[in-house]
Amino acid sequence: MKIITYREMCNQEGVETIQRGMNFNLGSNYSVILMSVKKGSPYNDFISDDGRKVIYEGHDVPSNHAPIPKMVDQAKTNPSGTLTQNGKFFEAAKASLKIDNYHIVRIYQKMTKGVWVDNFFFKLIDADFIPDENRNVFKFTLEAINEIPDGSVVQKESLDDAKADHTRVIPSHVIQAVWKRDQGKCVMCEATDNLHYDHYLPYSKGGSSINPDNIRILCGRHNLMKSDKIE
Ligand SMILES: [Zn+2]
Repeated sequence: MKIITYREMCNQEGVETIQRGMNFNLGSNYSVILMSVKKGSPYNDFISDDGRKVIYEGHDVPSNHAPIPKMVDQAKTNPSGTLTQNGKFFEAAKASLKIDNYHIVRIYQKMTKGVWVDNFFFKLIDADFIPDENRNVFKFTLEAINEIPDGSVVQKESLDDAKADHTRVIPSHVIQAVWKRDQGKCVMCEATDNLHYDHYLPYSKGGSSINPDNIRILCGRHNLMKSDKIE
């Protein structure tokens, strides 16, 4: 998983800024979701134990629509009747269940100010609107895929079961623990740019994504050298 700056993230998506967490069809081909699963983050996003699935919580109504947004249901439509971001993702998820195509979403995970992790591509496999304490919220289920899509609609059949390590989302607390321990540098050469999170023992060989001892930071060069050795 690649570590990038905010600027690199925007450049990669061809936009000046990305200000919202949910960005339906940000490019023309797929949507972009920003995740921040740090303590104190306003939403209860969740990464499954094996890192393949992400449960992403929808967004609250803006504070100018309700005095306490956390006290009211998340909205599917705006007052004007158009779909909110919640609504757009929800409709896309439900449509794909009927027509057998999945909407594709790229997920970036915030590590610290201006520093992000590129988690690559996911298919949006389901959406729910469910009770959460005293109100209803949206929950979107996304599953990691291996392919880089060239269209927003990808045939189910063309999606292999993902095996590569880059389809594993590393939980945020692990990401942050490793960044601190390795001091934001390649552990081999101390380079500070073009960095990646590497599984010391690959996931496919039983390596863990949730144990910081199995994750380290490598530069692009050392990351490549490692994959050459494995193949
Ligand atoms: Zn290096």
